[in-house]
Amino acid sequence: MPIYEYRCQSCHQVSSFFFKVASAATDVNCEYCGDYGMERIMSSFSRGRTEADQLRDLDPRYYKMVDDALGKAPSTTDPDHYLRKMAPFSAAEKAGDPYFSE
Ligand SMILES: [Zn+2]
Repeated sequence: MPIYEYRCQSCHQVSSFFFKVASAATDVNCEYCGDYGMERIMSSFSRGRTEADQLRDLDPRYYKMVDDALGKAPSTTDPDHYLRKMAPFSAAEKAGDPYFSE
């Protein structure tokens, strides 16, 4: 069900309305002062925000949680774990040499 947000042009409060059909999203009045001078505003979902915009808005605590979780996880879950174990291709002496150095 789409959510429509309107800003009251009298008191500038934002009211949210749920409509089953988009065509019903007219003739709304402010839930704070009752004024009908409502201006439709775009919800954050339809504003065409990029993923980078959304990442920027993430709570900084989220990054700390991720760091903490990675710190507690076994080393094999580190995405770089296997990369670090790999020898560079240039270290192979002949075709078929294993890529991993144990
Ligand atoms: Zn109002």
